[in-house]
Amino acid sequence: MKRIIVLGSTGSIGTQTLDVARQLPERIQVVGLAANRDGESLLAQSAGLGGVPTVLFDQEAASKFGTPGGMDAVVGLVQSSEADLVVIAVAGVIGLIPTLAALEAGKDVALASKEVLVAAGGLVTDLARARGRTLTPIDSEHSAVFQCLQGAGPSQVRRIVITASGGPFRGKKQTDLAKVTPVEALNHPTWSMGGKITVDSATLMNKGLETIEALWLFDLKLDQVDVLVHPQSIVHSFVEFNDTSVVAQLGWPDMRLPIQYALLYPERVKNSLRPWDPLQTAPLTFEAVDHDSFPSLMLARSAFETGGTAPCALNAANEEAANAFLRGECSYLGIARTVEAVLERHKPVEASLESVMETDAWARVAAREIYNKN
Ligand code: MG
Repeated sequence: MKRIIVLGSTGSIGTQTLDVARQLPERIQVVGLAANRDGESLLAQSAGLGGVPTVLFDQEAASKFGTPGGMDAVVGLVQSSEADLVVIAVAGVIGLIPTLAALEAGKDVALASKEVLVAAGGLVTDLARARGRTLTPIDSEHSAVFQCLQGAGPSQVRRIVITASGGPFRGKKQTDLAKVTPVEALNHPTWSMGGKITVDSATLMNKGLETIEALWLFDLKLDQVDVLVHPQSIVHSFVEFNDTSVVAQLGWPDMRLPIQYALLYPERVKNSLRPWDPLQTAPLTFEAVDHDSFPSLMLARSAFETGGTAPCALNAANEEAANAFLRGECSYLGIARTVEAVLERHKPVEASLESVMETDAWARVAAREIYNKN
């Protein structure tokens, strides 16, 4: 029996994680829940699980709903001895401190919040290694690579290829993209996800963040991680080994599969998901990324190359600009322009918990200044 705590339980990945746990009651027991500020849904989830402990990240919401609140309470929940594994499925870099706390306390981590690795991948992976804990990816592409790599180390890999659906604006040119709206951006062709990540999919920044996430998770060099557009979202990613053999992971786009694999790794357990049927699938196609129309992927690669706190600045600027776009305060093209301008201003230093937190806060202020002017 795996005893799990779910951070971000009211979000898209969180609710699907509880769904997976509900389907496998003899394998997975939920022993704690945390959400940002949606106390009503959180308390309902807890009641459905026999009253497991709950925490809200947001202090104000916590006092309103009479639950413990704030980062200290989240860390307390994560470190409670009952849990074997902590699912980090919060939106954004707010998941960093709980991730480090979980590893520090000797818990395994299943990570959906890629921003945590983008901002502080070295800190997180070093700590996991030092504590001998497993960091399993929930991100579907990384779950695919992780599954393909079972039994093989980084020295056997020539490259990995992360697939991208291409998002709702695939095939559009810069001029077509000047006036696109949040409603259009949120209309994702194959995956149903939260708002911020859907905007990241529309700009392809999601693939930039995923490139950095993969570099940390799989200990690869930048020229070993490629991205290809694959509009059907059936091949979730693939690994090309030194001998040119290619191993891919395929299936319907359904996050419950990577979630289950991350929770029960290395076991594969029967479930009620619909098996993939190649005869019911549109022909599988692949295209190169159009970097002129979608500059965000290259921005992310260059931030990783710069190193230190640069990816953290990229991530924070992107989070601010993407959320501003959703509120109608920044144009679609303004998102990448804001990220680029923040990176130009940023003076990267070596990444530590302190420098990452400082950079995160600085880059958010800088991003707001920039998109407000645009
Ligand atoms: Mg993904």
